[in-house]
Amino acid sequence: TRQWRLASRPVGEPSMENFELVTVDRPEPGHDEVLVETLYQSVDPYMRGRMRDAESYAEPWDVGDPMKAGVVGEVIESNADEFEAGDVVTGDLLWAEHAVADADELQRVNPDLGPVSTALGVLGMPGVTAYWGLLDVGDPKPGDTVFVSAAAGAVGSVVGQLAQINGARVVGTAGSDEKIEWLTEELGFDAAINYKETDDLSGAVAEACPNGIDVYFDNVGGPITDAVWPRLNEFSRVAICGQIALYNETDVPTGPRKLATLIEKRAKVEGLLVSDYQDRWGEALERLSRFVHEDEIRYRENVVEGFENAPDAFLGLFEGENIGKQLVKVADY
Ligand code: NDP
Repeated sequence: TRQWRLASRPVGEPSMENFELVTVDRPEPGHDEVLVETLYQSVDPYMRGRMRDAESYAEPWDVGDPMKAGVVGEVIESNADEFEAGDVVTGDLLWAEHAVADADELQRVNPDLGPVSTALGVLGMPGVTAYWGLLDVGDPKPGDTVFVSAAAGAVGSVVGQLAQINGARVVGTAGSDEKIEWLTEELGFDAAINYKETDDLSGAVAEACPNGIDVYFDNVGGPITDAVWPRLNEFSRVAICGQIALYNETDVPTGPRKLATLIEKRAKVEGLLVSDYQDRWGEALERLSRFVHEDEIRYRENVVEGFENAPDAFLGLFEGENIGKQLVKVADY
């Protein structure tokens, strides 16, 4: 069976050189353990942080070790009472075709509720991030303007649709015309800006948000945040979810300098981590799955085929190659 390991730490943009594909013996499950065959593997922007040798909310990976990822897999062999062969499960496992896990590291996925891959996207960690990040931190009110960056991504696309369900006007940024069309034609965004094709981002934000911005859900940081900042309304809320525009920076990035805007606007800026919502995870998933079944939330997945292509799929996140959730399909279900 094959695993991807961290070959070296990237400086700046990560590249294929930072990854090594190795073949190992298929692991044997011990007492209370389960052998899982990976069906889908997730690649996520936060993994860039784990490639770095620095303290952060997710522990760094060691060079030479296999990396970890959200996985949906099928139980092949079980020594735990909770699971049997054929069960579909999800958990934080290895970047591997097969992995052994403790039973208590796994959650069951019900294949009758929809495609099992959604447990890594709209009905998984990114969906829950969008749900509580928007509702708990962003706190949108009917009539508010909600602005979301990386709007066509896994988190952003759910944020925008939830904001609409809550009666907000929704504006987003994304990096291709195909994404803009998906947001405005299919997901019902009121406006969307292709930031890669816009010379005057501040002007485009101002035009798309004639009544200012009440909630800014930030996945990106950098120049998009610089353009949004001056449009914040009085008592607006800024939810800092991600800063992907800065993840490959080698220098300490400078943030928005005009913090006096926050005084004038009495705006609140708050960082969020989805892991703080363990207790309310189920509540978010229940509501999200209802919205998906009622077609009030639509989702897309960008599926790269083949375990050998997992690093490519990861690197593609920084090029904006994904519409919706970026996944690697490893085996047929
Ligand atoms: P996405 O599916 O949104 O994929 C990343 C997207 O980011 C790309 O498709 C690309 O889209 C955009 N992007 C990449 N590089 C840049 C850049 N330099 N400037 C602007 N946009 C860029 O990923 P997720 O939905 O999984 O994650 C979105 C954000 O949320 C990330 O920053 C992630 O780290 C964060 N996150 C935080 C969590 C938390 O608990 N705080 C939990 C989960 C995610 P485009 O075409 O728009 O450029």
